[in-house]
Amino acid sequence: MQLDKKLKILFVSAEVSPFAKTGGLADVAGSLPKALAQMGNDVRVVMPRYRDIVSSMKYVVDFPVHMDNFTKTCIIRETEMTANVMEKRVNVPVYFIDSYDYYDREGIYCHPDDGERFAFFCNSVIEMLPKINFQPDIIHCNDWHTGPICMLLKEKYIKHSFYNNISTLFTIHILEYQGNVSKEILKLFNIGYEVFVPDKVEFYGMFNFMKSGLVYADIINTVSGTYSKEIQTSQYGEGLDGLLRKRDKDLFGIVNGISYEEFNPALDKRIYFNYDSETIENKKENKYALQKETGLPVGDMPLIGLISRLSGQKGLELIIEKIDEIMKHDLQFILLGTGDPYYESSFLKIRNKYTNKMAVYIEFNAALAQRIYAGSDMFLMPSRFEPCGLGQIISLRYGTIPIVRATGGLSETIIDYYKDNDRGNGFSFTEFTADELLKTIEGALNLYNLNPEEWQRLVKKAANEDFSWRKSAEEYVKLYNLAIEREK
Ligand code: ADP
Repeated sequence: MQLDKKLKILFVSAEVSPFAKTGGLADVAGSLPKALAQMGNDVRVVMPRYRDIVSSMKYVVDFPVHMDNFTKTCIIRETEMTANVMEKRVNVPVYFIDSYDYYDREGIYCHPDDGERFAFFCNSVIEMLPKINFQPDIIHCNDWHTGPICMLLKEKYIKHSFYNNISTLFTIHILEYQGNVSKEILKLFNIGYEVFVPDKVEFYGMFNFMKSGLVYADIINTVSGTYSKEIQTSQYGEGLDGLLRKRDKDLFGIVNGISYEEFNPALDKRIYFNYDSETIENKKENKYALQKETGLPVGDMPLIGLISRLSGQKGLELIIEKIDEIMKHDLQFILLGTGDPYYESSFLKIRNKYTNKMAVYIEFNAALAQRIYAGSDMFLMPSRFEPCGLGQIISLRYGTIPIVRATGGLSETIIDYYKDNDRGNGFSFTEFTADELLKTIEGALNLYNLNPEEWQRLVKKAANEDFSWRKSAEEYVKLYNLAIEREK
C-alpha cells in the first residue's frame, strides 16, 4: 500500500462546522478535512446550502438534475475553510449544493420531504464533479444523508469512465438515524426496483438511506473501535447488525479527534479568561464568571456541566431519576441542550425546584457551550450508547473532568480514576443504572472535596492529553488507501 501518495478526497456531509451544526458530525466535518489537507492531500468538502448559512460564497456553476420525470436546478457555490497548524496554512474548498426548493428553509432536518431533499443532494454531488473538474480518488460519505452516493456510483455511474475509478468510504457517526422512506425514492435516483431486495437497500418494506451506504461502500468505519463492535450486536445494531456482521472485514473504528485550533482554551475568544495547562488556575475565573452569568451563587462548590442533544441516547433519564439525591450535595449544575420536548420540560421543571443550584438553557448556543466547558469542574455524559462522543474530549481539553458511562467512544477515551489512579482522566460506570450514575458522581465529588491537590493534578493531566486529529487523520488515510485497493 502506497501511503505517501497524496489523495484527492471529496468529503460529503449534511452538516459542517462552522456553517451548520446540530452535533458531533459537524465538528468532524469541519476539522478532519483540514487535518487531511495539512498532510498534503487535495480535500474538498460539500454540503447543502441551508438558509441560515451566512458566510460569503461565490457562484461556481449551475446545472439541471434529472429526478424521475422532473428536473431541478442545482447551483454550486464555493467558499473555503482555512487552518493554521504548525505555521502551515491550508485552505479547504467547501462547495454548497444550493436549490430553490430544498434548502432555503428554517432548520436543517425534520422536513417531511427529507428523503427527497437528500436524494437531490446525493444526485447533485455526483453530477457536480465533472462540472468543477474534480475527479476524486475517494468520496468520503458520512451518515444516512449521503449513503445513496455509494449506491449511485456502483449501480448507475459505473458505466461512465469519469466515475469508475472512484472509491468510497462510508462513516457511521450514528446508526440510530437511518433515513427510511418509501421505495418510490428509487425513481428520484433513476435506479430500478431490482435493488429493492433485502440484500441491497430494502429494510422492512422501506428504502433505507443508511443501508444503501453500508451495502455499497468499499469500506465502512465508525467513530470508535468499541462502537464498531457494539453495532454488530442486536443491542446496538438498530436492525442492521446482521449486515454489519456480514461486512465485518470491511468495518473499522477510528476515534474522532477535535480541532485544536477551535477548541483551545489558550486562544478561545468565547470564554472569559484564557488559560492552558500551565495557567490552569485561570480556569477558576471562568467558573466564577459563569456562575455570575447564569445567576448562580459564586463560590468553590463543584460545578457540573452538561451540553447535549436532549435525546434518548444520552442517558438523561438516569439523571432525572436520581436528581433529588444528586442535588442534595453541595454542588451546582448547568445544562445546555435542545431536543426531545419531554427532556426539555423535565429539566425546566427540575430547574424551578433548584433555582439556586441549577441553570438550564434550552437552546443551541455554541459560545455559551464553550463558557460551560471552560467554567465547569465536571462534565456529565451518561450515554446509553455513544459512537464516539465529542463533549468528553472537548471537556478534557478545557481541564473539565468527564463523568461518563463506559460505552462506545466514551469507554475508549475516558479511563476511570478509581480503576487506575495514574492513567485515569475521568470517572465512569458500566451498568446503565441510576444507582451507578449516582455512585460515580459521588466518587467524583469526594475526590474534588477531600483531595483538592489530587483533583488539580487530574485537571492538569486532562488538559495535557492529546486528542488532536494527528493520529486519527493518518488512520483515515490508511482506510482511503484500503478502499482504493478494494475498488480495483
Ligand atoms: P452528538 O454528535 O451525538 O450530538 P457529540 O458529543 O459527538 O454528540 O457532539 C456534540 C457536539 O455538539 C459538541 O460539540 C457539543 O458541544 C455540541 N452541542 C450539543 N448540544 C449543544 C447546544 N445545545 N449548544 C451548543 N453546542 C451543543
